[in-house]
Amino acid sequence: MARILAVHAHPDDAEILAGGTLALLAGAGHTVTIATLTPGDCGSADLGPDEIADLRRREAAAAAVHIGANYVCLEMRDLVIFNDDAARRRVTEALRQARPDIVLASSPVDYHCDHEAASALARDACFAAPTPNYRTGSDPLDAIPHLYFMDPVGGRDREENLLRPDFVVDVAAAIERKRAMLAEHASQRSWLRKHHGNDEYIQQMDQWTRERGALAGASHGEGFRQYRGHPYPRTPLLQELLAGVVINLQAHA
Ligand SMILES: [Zn+2]
Repeated sequence: MARILAVHAHPDDAEILAGGTLALLAGAGHTVTIATLTPGDCGSADLGPDEIADLRRREAAAAAVHIGANYVCLEMRDLVIFNDDAARRRVTEALRQARPDIVLASSPVDYHCDHEAASALARDACFAAPTPNYRTGSDPLDAIPHLYFMDPVGGRDREENLLRPDFVVDVAAAIERKRAMLAEHASQRSWLRKHHGNDEYIQQMDQWTRERGALAGASHGEGFRQYRGHPYPRTPLLQELLAGVVINLQAHA
């Protein structure tokens, strides 16, 4: 069985963009870890940073429990994620502890600076993790993991250009688990409910997952791009693990 590490910036990002895929992988017996770089300490208008961080760590852990995944927080801070020495070592150490075959990272282009910085950190940590002289505490990995990028939020870059995924995972069979994971993020749900007057949090995720599914002729989907830069592995490991629910978009172009 494979080990999969999802790395995103804040609690709830990985659930929204890849929760169905992670549920399918975990359900098939693979080991899934969800890592956030921060505990979402800026994600409240009412609570202070330490209070909201405590709450959101617990919410993220509860969401992971729904699919039998582990949750880890790398304890950076919102809007303070930079691709520097300390951060790269921290993400590399997280990879060495989780020892993934596959890393699912945030999109290199996205609306939020933390998402973009987290993407570069995950990419570079995949490269650094097998390098013995780059020391972080744990043993180096045997090889660079397979790296995939999740969709950006809304599927668009900062200039509103749509990004086409390489393939879409049909997550119809996991949509209830995805909803249950997201519902654990009660602080974010109530924040939106208070400000928008309805339960848009789950609705927006549902709508987004339907849109991504529609791109590939499925009722619900999640898009991914495989990073194929030298010397990262190019074999379709994730696609093989998800055989039967992967819709290659080249075939639908
Ligand atoms: Zn985020």
